Amino acid sequence: MPLTLDAHNHVGVRHGASQTGAELLDRIDTAGVDLACAFPFVEGVFSNDDVDAARAADPDRIVPFLAVNPWQRDEAVAEIHRRADKGYRGLKLHPTIHGYHLSDLGLVGPVLDAVRERGLVVICHGASDLYNAPPEFARVCRAYPEVPFLMAHSGTFWSHDQAVEIAGETPNLYLETARVPVFEVATSVKEIGPEKVIWGTDSPFVDYTFEFEKMARAAGSEDARQMVCGGNLARLLGLD
Ligand SMILES: [Zn+2]
Repeated sequence: MPLTLDAHNHVGVRHGASQTGAELLDRIDTAGVDLACAFPFVEGVFSNDDVDAARAADPDRIVPFLAVNPWQRDEAVAEIHRRADKGYRGLKLHPTIHGYHLSDLGLVGPVLDAVRERGLVVICHGASDLYNAPPEFARVCRAYPEVPFLMAHSGTFWSHDQAVEIAGETPNLYLETARVPVFEVATSVKEIGPEKVIWGTDSPFVDYTFEFEKMARAAGSEDARQMVCGGNLARLLGLD
């Protein structure tokens, strides 16, 4: 069977939400999923040590991603290098929560330079908020063509059409499906092809099994579902 891989999970504890590694493994087992990328909740003070703790539950099935706040400048860059040394594979950014424009390269540039140097994948919050609207992704993707960017939530809700258009003309931009309605996921696959769409759930904020099963309906074919639900991201991460 081809690998199934969930691009988007939060681990650790913050006000109002928590998820341990064991809880995440239980969710992916129940749904029949192989691997899950995991990063911290990013509100307030957060620590990538939460990822190490979660990963201890099964280091072979939880793929470690870190999160940084680019306002922390040198410390954010140092943290990327520290975690890359420990085998972390990707970086989560959340411009809306941390308060910066994704395409503000004066601020985000040092972080993305480190990402490029270490060969990481970026997953960035990409709902239809001002700071991470689709044109912001277009600008950073042009500046860092070697870095794969996943637009979490595919511009949902109001910017989905724009997200599809921009992802279609931006080779290193992929649309991630967490909490995106079935019609919008199906439209993404139809318009830009299954090779440009990547499945994620945003656990623990979802009905996990529903987020997986919706892809069978949204992808249009079993071949497309397999690419979206693991093949594409496994290739980007070198796991295939
Ligand atoms: Zn999330």
